[in-house]
Amino acid sequence: MKKFLKTLIPTELAKGLLLTGKWFCQVMFSPNRGKSKLHIVDEYPEVPAKVQPRFRGRLQLLKDAQDEIICVCCMACIKACPTNAISLVAGKKEGRKTRIPESYDFELERCIFCGFCVESCTFNAIALNHQFELAVYNREDMAIGLGGVFQSIDKPSPVGKFSYSGKE
Ligand code: SF4
Ligand code: SF4
Repeated sequence: MKKFLKTLIPTELAKGLLLTGKWFCQVMFSPNRGKSKLHIVDEYPEVPAKVQPRFRGRLQLLKDAQDEIICVCCMACIKACPTNAISLVAGKKEGRKTRIPESYDFELERCIFCGFCVESCTFNAIALNHQFELAVYNREDMAIGLGGVFQSIDKPSPVGKFSYSGKE
């Protein structure tokens, strides 16, 4: 009987409509309506999409205020990476006391975006930036290094121009 009544009176449908109506009225009749935009969805891809602050995108080598790579080649990130996605060759630079990477290679297709590398770096020299559009046409373009032709590890990638790169 209960089941039969449920089919006659679509309560779930009514509940859904009530909820939609509630939100609609809140937007339409709110005193701040004139001040706030009616669009409550992101206009992606016309407007670059912002992700949550802790979003983990592509690995990026960070630079200091003097535009110098912060990394001192301690190798902690390489040891912490469970997929061996990072490799580097340490080098020296005149006038710099600490080591500097001669090459820093990151294989995007191996990365599982776990963030262990970033956590392990006590120098805050790397970050997972806010880029989420990481598709490429060739597998080679997923090998990202210093001064890369297509993507460079110390710059946000040109792919993903519609995603917001919060950490540059
Ligand atoms: S996010 Fe994880 S998988 Fe990707 S490079 Fe860092 S440690 Fe390796
Ligand atoms: S842990 Fe940080 S400083 Fe050490 S090699 Fe990795 S990026 Fe460079």
